Amino acid sequence: MKRILITGGAGFIGSHLCERMLNEGNEVICLDNFFTGRRKNVEHLLQHPGFELVRHDVTSPYLAEVDEIFNLACPASPVHYQYNPIKTSKTSIMGAINMLGLAKRVKARILQASTSEVYGDPEVHPQPEAYWGNVNPIGIRSCYDEGKRCAETLFMDYYRQHKIRIKIIRIFNTYGPNMHPNDGRVVSNFIMQALRGEDITIFGSGNQTRSFQYVDDLIEGMVRMINTPDEFIGPVNIGNPNEFTMLELAQKVIELTGSTSKMIFKPLPSDDPRQRRPDISLAHEALGGWEPTIQLEEGLKRTIRYFEGELSSGRI
Ligand code: NAD
Ligand code: UDP
Repeated sequence: MKRILITGGAGFIGSHLCERMLNEGNEVICLDNFFTGRRKNVEHLLQHPGFELVRHDVTSPYLAEVDEIFNLACPASPVHYQYNPIKTSKTSIMGAINMLGLAKRVKARILQASTSEVYGDPEVHPQPEAYWGNVNPIGIRSCYDEGKRCAETLFMDYYRQHKIRIKIIRIFNTYGPNMHPNDGRVVSNFIMQALRGEDITIFGSGNQTRSFQYVDDLIEGMVRMINTPDEFIGPVNIGNPNEFTMLELAQKVIELTGSTSKMIFKPLPSDDPRQRRPDISLAHEALGGWEPTIQLEEGLKRTIRYFEGELSSGRI
């Protein structure tokens, strides 16, 4: 049994990770400032004897005796990370410094939830880990992209300078139950719009692509990554290489919900990446043959069921 700290644990991905880690017999401290996360996501875990929920902001230091840290605290949807961009940079950078400091003090293993956004608007396709990226340092996405890039730098420097046991994963677009209905990201937007019979908002032409990963596949990759030998630090891409345009996604959501919603076109936000697809050969090799097992149609069906349940129970 390990004691595990999960920052951002009440968020979408964090809540799934808390559950998985408890199910494996560990103790979990879920730390969150509830900016985009919700108590509701972890409510069912509150009675578990191994679970502790702590309201705390990672921009301030936190001390606890733990064996492992998963650093997920950071808003991930463009709408939310652009709401207070200075705070977003602080969360990524000061959060990384505080959590790395904690890892150093208690000799914990620490995993950073980095992102495909470190590749920016990529000129190499698909993106391998060796690609340095094409990121605008002064745009509206920079608080997130550069914050996450700086966090990777800090992780690497703590590793080189202090021999901290680090792991870096670069997560590609992930979706599933527990996403906030007003999260603002494309999968939850389209599903909510389709279920409510509202127009489906396509930004730009809809020909830009993303590769969508169902959350269970990501959690499996994260668990395998934290358990790799100390020598393997990453960064490693974790994503589903099946690539879709936003038009294809919208069509699929309409088909699976049986909605009468129509697509409408809205301006493309600036610096919106045109294409994105992970090269997952490193993950496959280093994480015991890991690969995504849940493809878009099945993942969407499960996510639609979740949002239908939330709507019919009046919770949203
Ligand atoms: P999310 O917004 O649902 O979760 C983020 C969590 O962090 C929330 O619970 C939020 O309240 C918390 N948080 C934010 N700022 C904080 C702070 N200063 N102190 C403490 N807690 C804070 O988003 P998510 O999709 O679950 O993302 C989790 C992590 O994974 C993020 O670091 C994100 O950058 C990364 N990631 C996610 C994706 C994806 O597609 N979902 C892709 C790449 C990377
Ligand atoms: N998008 C869209 N309609 C929406 C929300 C997003 O067409 O209602 C587009 C967005 O412009 C981007 C893609 O969907 O091209 C993925 O957006 P998201 O915010 O989910 O993730 P990210 O851009 O960070 O990959």
